[in-house]
Amino acid sequence: MIQGDMLYEGKAKKIFLTDQPDEVVQYFKDDATAFNAQKKGTILEKGIVNNKISTRLFELLEQAGVATHFLKKLSDREMLARRVKILPIEVVIRNRATGSIIKRLGLEEGLVIDPPLIEFFYKDDSLGDPLITEDHIRMMNLATSDQVASLKTLSLKINEVLKPFFQERGMMLVDFKLEFGLWNGQILLADEISPDTCRFWDIQTGERMDKDRFRKDLGRIEETYQEVLRRVCA
Ligand code: UDP
Repeated sequence: MIQGDMLYEGKAKKIFLTDQPDEVVQYFKDDATAFNAQKKGTILEKGIVNNKISTRLFELLEQAGVATHFLKKLSDREMLARRVKILPIEVVIRNRATGSIIKRLGLEEGLVIDPPLIEFFYKDDSLGDPLITEDHIRMMNLATSDQVASLKTLSLKINEVLKPFFQERGMMLVDFKLEFGLWNGQILLADEISPDTCRFWDIQTGERMDKDRFRKDLGRIEETYQEVLRRVCA
């Protein structure tokens, strides 16, 4: 595999072409952003940690029968992945209320959401990734009705695999964001799953173990990412 030109640079990752037309290299950076990139910073070794955590979780999900873009881990900061066409939809799954849903609906922090709630956001930085409904998705031709149904089924299945995995490691999976891509007409889970894209609360202490430490200046950011890695890859 030969790494080629950069295809895309996002806030936390770069994507490179390879000599294989349907494979890309996903490179994990230390850059961190929050509040639609109004807050910027660096979390030392975050790229290494998130590549390892994502690798472990993609392997776990593949074993559970969820098709993902993941092919293999190449190095500390790089994974080989299928080249997919990312759907411009962020899927958020919530087991507890926190973050944007609290501000939007005035819910109590930590409210149990059972069955879990699925929300869709339109992936467009210039619009601030607005919340959208299935009707918006249909109206804007972002995905077909069948694809939306698959996104919901897949997201709930992923939640059912990840929730007990983290529970066994003393972490509550509060909420998380998924991105999916199309590959040969198939929907694959893509992007990453990491403390950048999930919220974890320590079951014993309630301590925040995710990017909220960066968003809210809670301190001990690097140490917390390393602790999540230790628990996930132990
Ligand atoms: N999330 C993400 N990327 C985004 C927005 C949200 O990974 O651009 C994740 C976030 O880390 C959390 C979940 O999605 O685990 C729900 O986020 P929320 O809608 O509460 O938004 P926030 O409070 O982060 O603005």
